[in-house]
Amino acid sequence: MSIRLKQNNSEKSLIISLTLIILHNYYNLKPLPLSLQRYSQTAKSAVLTLCGLTWMAQHQKDTTGAVLTFHGLREDHSAAEALDASLHQPIGTFHRICEFLAKNYQVMPLSEMVRMNQQAKKLPARAVAITFDDGYASNYELGFPVLRELGLPATIFLSTGFLDGTHALWFQEMDLAYQALGRSSTELSSALAELKKLTNTEMLKEVKRVVSSSQATPKQPRVMRPMSWDNARTLQQSGLIELGGHTHTHPILARCTLEEQMDEIKTCHGRMTAELGPAPRLFAYTNGGPTDFTADTQRILAECNFEAAFTMMGGRYSSASASHALPRYGSPETVLEANAMASGAFELLKKWRGGAA
Ligand SMILES: [Zn+2]
Repeated sequence: MSIRLKQNNSEKSLIISLTLIILHNYYNLKPLPLSLQRYSQTAKSAVLTLCGLTWMAQHQKDTTGAVLTFHGLREDHSAAEALDASLHQPIGTFHRICEFLAKNYQVMPLSEMVRMNQQAKKLPARAVAITFDDGYASNYELGFPVLRELGLPATIFLSTGFLDGTHALWFQEMDLAYQALGRSSTELSSALAELKKLTNTEMLKEVKRVVSSSQATPKQPRVMRPMSWDNARTLQQSGLIELGGHTHTHPILARCTLEEQMDEIKTCHGRMTAELGPAPRLFAYTNGGPTDFTADTQRILAECNFEAAFTMMGGRYSSASASHALPRYGSPETVLEANAMASGAFELLKKWRGGAA
């Protein structure tokens, strides 16, 4: 069975320009500007699809799963309202990705994927789970109708202080401050990368300094709003959406003291249990890189009865995966990218290249 990819014109022209970026990378020329680096993953996906590697990956006898990550969503053709527009995907793109997954993959609840892997059962062929991070209102207002229309389950990982309205997401505060200062998205991206290296206390201090120097208005753009707890309860009661933990104030846990880590995880667990009833069992790390959580983080999560914790490190999810360091792909920005991630094409390429990819 061949896979039919629905592409719009912008995606087709993207393929051509991005293939050039791949060649650029291959020949190790000067580093690309940040705006083009963002397309690197999509470029690789386009090449993998054109070479038939995604098709081959889909048809290998493989029963591992793929977990995809999304964040916020926005109306098509609306202003991004954020310098980091990649956090708020146009709903049309999300709809196309979901339609493609519904037709070509077995989209299953993440908790079911976790349960099957815990019991060392083979996942169905082409198993995929959809997740969202942070808890944006747009997940409820725009994403849920699409998922309901297509009958696709998903898991939303909540930063509970964001929903409570007591803790703005620090990277959004930086985004608004940089907009007020007239800075570019590339400058924001560099600043965020530097902030992520600091301890949580130092990072918060620096964010506060930048925010007060910017005199940014306290008005929260539409895309940056959290969902309400009522929204979260409606999603949970639908039976289609599961809710997991994503800390209370969204720090990078490895940059926190042990006490701060315990407080973040326990408060998140407590707020979710108080608002939603059943205690959360799944967790997603903020930032999610290999140095963004520690052995202590994993121990505290297990003590709080979080059965599984997901990173943002791409890879296949099987019964062999470590329960509190599970692989998860970053946000796909096109159907091509979602297909390359879900199919296992990246891993197939890595295998062919002897692990050197
Ligand atoms: Zn997050």
